[in-house]
Amino acid sequence: MTETPTPPLQTFRAKVSEHVLLAGKYQYIHFELLDPHRIQFRAGQYLLLTVPGGAEKKSYSISSPPALDHAVEILVDISPHGDGSLYLASLAPGDEVEFRAPVGQFTITPLSKNQPPVENELVFVATGSGISPIRSQILDLLETKNDSRPIRLHWGIRFIYDLFWEEDFRELAENYPNFTFDIILSHPPDSWPLCRGHVTDCLKKHYQKFAATGFYLCGNKQMIEAVTSLLKFQAVPPERIHFEKFF
Ligand SMILES: Cc1cc2nc3c(=O)[nH]c(=O)nc-3n(C[C@H](O)[C@H](O)[C@H](O)COP(=O)(O)OP(=O)(O)OC[C@H]3O[C@@H](n4cnc5c(N)ncnc54)[C@H](O)[C@@H]3O)c2cc1C
Repeated sequence: MTETPTPPLQTFRAKVSEHVLLAGKYQYIHFELLDPHRIQFRAGQYLLLTVPGGAEKKSYSISSPPALDHAVEILVDISPHGDGSLYLASLAPGDEVEFRAPVGQFTITPLSKNQPPVENELVFVATGSGISPIRSQILDLLETKNDSRPIRLHWGIRFIYDLFWEEDFRELAENYPNFTFDIILSHPPDSWPLCRGHVTDCLKKHYQKFAATGFYLCGNKQMIEAVTSLLKFQAVPPERIHFEKFF
């Protein structure tokens, strides 16, 4: 499984074909590509969206896997109510958008032919909408690349009612025994049986020794800094800590 070089940045026109509100604060948007009508990217990369009237392009990770090459899907937290999230929340099926893609280096370390993997286990850590590129990476690894390494997802969210995609991840875990996931609630109800607190609390419980694990973190700055310092304290080398900071 060696990666082909990333194709050059292109400008795309696309049409909204599905627009779904998840957990009351995330907009999940499916864009059919119009021109060009195919995209090549590496799982974990993002697009730069043109916001009409906005001074700068806004970054959104692609949450669909590269195998879906005639469309892209994004997951947007619409609670910031700035130019980008308001624009995306206002879109309706049939509306057209423009973006540049692919961009970014938050991609899985490729396997080299005839060599043992540098990372023999993959651990993903997301908070909130940071699940977006990680969904693309996990689907690509399991469904397209048939990667058999242990793959674990730790997803931190605040409240139980912020939860979505849980069923999808559960189904993946049933279909792929090398995939496991857990959800960490920072404000859990008393009855919550799983991890509670911050993602670092859960990571400390799960991992005493990190062997040759590759870590992929996505979300807000505080989470990334907290997890990175925990991993450095555990002597994980920096080249095995990969991250995408949303804000
Ligand atoms: C590489 C990259 C990829 C990104 N991918 C995504 C993505 O897939 N989904 C997504 O929702 N956002 C993503 N973001 C954040 C996104 O680009 C915007 O910053 C976000 O949508 C807010 O833009 P805005 O114009 O609505 O508000 P702004 O006025 O630009 O920001 C208002 C405030 O909102 C907060 N904020 C920014 N992003 C988020 C967020 N995701 N969740 C909660 N609060 C936030 C920050 O504190 C920010 O100061 C990504 C950012 C980067 C750098």
